Parts: sequence; C-alpha cells; structure tokens
Amino acid sequence: MGREIGPLSESSDPATVRTLTTAANRIVDQWPASPFAQTDSTDESHANDIEAVGQWYASLNLPCAFLNQGACTIYNERPLACQEHLVWGSSAHCDGFQPGLGNSLEAPVKVLDALGQLAAELEQTEVQAVMMPLVPFWYEENRHRALQTWNGPELVSRFLDCLADTTAQTASVPEAA
Ligand code: SF4
Repeated sequence: MGREIGPLSESSDPATVRTLTTAANRIVDQWPASPFAQTDSTDESHANDIEAVGQWYASLNLPCAFLNQGACTIYNERPLACQEHLVWGSSAHCDGFQPGLGNSLEAPVKVLDALGQLAAELEQTEVQAVMMPLVPFWYEENRHRALQTWNGPELVSRFLDCLADTTAQTASVPEAA
C-alpha cells in the first residue's frame, strides 16, 4: 500500500507543482454552485454523492501532475484509487481521460471504499473523498488528523468488517447493461 501524497514543499518538482496548481484552480473555478444532491447520512446515498463527484472530476479531463512521458513518477506510492484500476493500452487514463485510448479493469474488492468507511466510523464523519489535485492543499489543513491513534487489533478487526460490508455491497449492485 502506498504512502499518502504529502504537502507541497520547496523541494517539490516545479512542473508537478504547476500542473497541480493549474488543476486545483480549474476545480475551484468550475465547481458548480450546487452540483450534487445533498443527502442524509446513509452510507448508500453518500456513496452515490461521491460517485457523482468522481464523475464530475473525470469530466474535467485533467492530466495527472505525476505523469511524466507516459509513466507514473510515484508508481510505488500512487493513490489507492489508481492502484484499484488495472490500466492497459495507454496512459490516457492518467493524462485527462481520452475515450478509446485506454482500458481499465476495476478490482473486485474495493479497499478504498472500505478505508473510507473505516475512517468515517473512526472520526465520526461522513465518508470523504478528496480530488487528487486538492490533496496537498487539503493535507495542510488536516495534518492533525494524521496524528490520531487507535488500538491496532481493533482497527484491523473494524477494517475487515468494513471490507466485508463494501464487498457485499459491490456484489449486490447489478452490472449496467
Ligand atoms: S493518475 Fe495515478 S497512476 Fe496515473 S500518473 Fe497519476 S498517480 Fe500515477
């Protein structure tokens, strides 16, 4: 499992910083006034909200700041969202999705969803997702959350419960025709 993407610093690659900043500005500039339905706190409705945000983000076709000459420069530390998609054919999925140029397989087990659910339970928040270009900026405001600790065995046990839940939910969703 990869490390998290940390904050930007003076040692960050300037081209990466430029691409991240440009992408973050586009997200902020184009964020619709009321883009997604506000729902209550049921897991399923929030899953739909996050799915809708993900689709909106994908529609922006933003190139990933960590793509360089067709290769991922943080491959061993890439986000789980990337690890859960096995991509073949081209790096188009990373370069602002271009239909027909890349293919991907989704993993049958959604570790990312399980971790999101676990974090929400532990922190007593809604399930949250952060678009990648915003992560360095989000990280600056949320450093304190990384300093929290939990009992290890209990954490593993709750994670396995979340994994079972999310896997069962995925299995019960009929595939689109
Ligand atoms: S989208 Fe993910 S896998 Fe692709 S270049 Fe960016 S971090 Fe790497």
